[in-house]
Amino acid sequence: MRKPFIAGNWKMNQTRASAHELITQMLPGLVELNTIDRVICPPFMSLAPAAALLAGTDVKLGAQNLFWEDAGAYTGEVSPLMVKEFCDYVIIGHSERRTYFGETNESVNKKMKAALSHGLLPILCIGETLAEKEANKTAEVLITQVHGGLYEISRDSLDKVVIAYEPVWAIGTGRAASGEEANAVVNVIIRPTLAELYGEIAAQEMRVLYGGSVSSKNAGEFFSQSDIDGALIGGASLKAEEFVNIARSAAK
Ligand code: PEP
Repeated sequence: MRKPFIAGNWKMNQTRASAHELITQMLPGLVELNTIDRVICPPFMSLAPAAALLAGTDVKLGAQNLFWEDAGAYTGEVSPLMVKEFCDYVIIGHSERRTYFGETNESVNKKMKAALSHGLLPILCIGETLAEKEANKTAEVLITQVHGGLYEISRDSLDKVVIAYEPVWAIGTGRAASGEEANAVVNVIIRPTLAELYGEIAAQEMRVLYGGSVSSKNAGEFFSQSDIDGALIGGASLKAEEFVNIARSAAK
């Protein structure tokens, strides 16, 4: 049995004060839903105050990125050691980082290894763009991203990794994939790729999330699928009631 998992990616939203307010609003609802894993990923600047608010609860914190070196002359970067002070999880390879900040499968892999070596639990994001989908390249892109992201990562570390399948054309567009469509991608492309790398049992044990315009209205459609174990949620994670309702739907 794979435990349901939901994570809220706040992206570059919320100041320290508004983050405090948002967490205060959503926390009572999230705390009740202890049959699923719940993670919120505020911007770096709000991680310390968020950690203080979440202390004593089993709602976890995640960062949205990290750099692979522990310390040094890397102006503007944040190291795994710094992330680890506040977070259990870290989102790696989000499509916005691949698109706007030049992240490649190679740099994503370095970040994956750095996260794991510091005991952080990575949420590895993969997904095809609309152009790639229309060119029938979804399988090729996802297989390359899975191979690249997990390169030299051992079978023993696999239970620490969560994969988020996020078709880029569905992120922030209001145009979600259908539940069946997303499930088929996980079932036909992603799990078989994991099975080829790590064996069938590992592939079946690994949690795979869907991400892309998830809302409280469509969440049930994803959570009822055989191969989707939860969601990575962007826009809807910035509304307390909406995020808690999605979490409720995952806990059903
Ligand atoms: C995301 O940022 O990972 C995401 C899925 O965003 P949204 O839910 O807004 O599409």
